[in-house]
Amino acid sequence: MSGISRRRFLAASVAGCAATTLAGTKKALASGSFSGYPEGMGVLVDLTRCVGCRSCEAACNKEQQLPAPELPFDDKSVFDQTFHDGKQLRRPDENAYTVVNRYQPASSDQPVYRKVQCNHCSEPACLTSCFVNAYTKTKEGAVIYNSKVCVGCRNCMIACPFHIPGYSYSSAFDPVVKKCIFCHETRLKNGLPPACVEICPQEALTFGKRKELLKIGNNRIQTHPGRYVNRIYGENELGGTSWMYLSPVPFSEVGFDPNPGNDPIINQVKDFLGTVPMVLAIWPAMFAGFHLLAKKHDGHEGHDQTADTTPGDEGDEQ
Ligand code: SF4
Ligand code: SF4
Ligand code: SF4
Repeated sequence: MSGISRRRFLAASVAGCAATTLAGTKKALASGSFSGYPEGMGVLVDLTRCVGCRSCEAACNKEQQLPAPELPFDDKSVFDQTFHDGKQLRRPDENAYTVVNRYQPASSDQPVYRKVQCNHCSEPACLTSCFVNAYTKTKEGAVIYNSKVCVGCRNCMIACPFHIPGYSYSSAFDPVVKKCIFCHETRLKNGLPPACVEICPQEALTFGKRKELLKIGNNRIQTHPGRYVNRIYGENELGGTSWMYLSPVPFSEVGFDPNPGNDPIINQVKDFLGTVPMVLAIWPAMFAGFHLLAKKHDGHEGHDQTADTTPGDEGDEQ
C-alpha cells in the first residue's frame, strides 16, 4: 500500500471509531487541545551505538514476564529472518515487545542495527482509534492500556503508523492487545529507566525528559556532523514521539517512513469525519455491546465496572 493510500486508509479506520468517541475524557486529543505532556520522559535511540547484541530484548522479556523465545537471545540468526517475500523484518508482537533488526544501508558498508518498540506517540493513533478507551497516555510519557476493557477489535493495530500492537489469540472471548508499555508500572512511574535502557552495554539508549533528549540529540549532531544525518526522527513526525532516533544513514534506509508528515493522525481524521457514514459511526458501540454481553455470559460479570470503564486504569495494563 502506498504511503498516501495507507494514510487515507488509516484516516478512514480511525475516523469510524473516533466518531463515537470524540466527546469526553481523553478526547481533549480530538479537540486538538492535547499537546502530549511536554514534561514527559522519553528515550533517545542512537543507531550509531547499537551493536545488535539483543540484550534489550532479553531484558524486556524478563521485565514483562513474557514467554521464552524459540531461539535464545544470543542467537544472531534472527537477523536473517524476513517475511512477505523479504520485504518485512521482524516486528514486535504479543510475545516480544521489542525486537532488534539489522539493516545493510545502501549508503554505508557497515550494517546498522535498530531496536523496534512502541514509540509512545505524543498524540497516539492507537488511543484515538480505541472506542472503549483502553489506552491512556500517562503524564510520564507512556502509552499504556487496560486489558480489562479491550474488546479485541484490533482497531489500534490498524491505526498505529508504526505497526506496533500485537494481539493475543488465547481466547476468543478474552482477547488482548499487547505492546511495550515503557515499563510504566514497574519502573517509569517511579522515575526509573526502562529495563531495556538499563541493560544496554553500548549506551545506545538514553533515558530522560523528552525536551532534554532533544538537546542531547542536537548536540551530538552538531558535534559530530559526519556521524549523523541532520534529523532526530520523532521530534516532529506524526505529532512527535517519546522515543526518538539518531541515525548514521537516511532513515528510509533503516526502515522508517521518511515522510510520515508532522500531523498526528487525529488531525487527518477531523477532516475525514464529515464524510463518515452513520453506519461506520455506530458499529463500534454495537460491537462493544455484543462483546460485553458475551463476557457476561462467559462469567466475566464480576469485574468492577467502575474500574473496567475508567480510562487510564493502570492496575492491569498487560
Ligand atoms: S507507536 Fe503505535 S502503539 Fe505506540 S503509541 Fe504510537 S500509535 Fe500507539
Ligand atoms: S520500555 Fe519496557 S516494555 Fe518497552 S521495550 Fe523496553 S523493557 Fe520492554
Ligand atoms: S542492548 Fe543496546 S546495543 Fe544491544 S541491541 Fe539493544 S540497543 Fe543495541
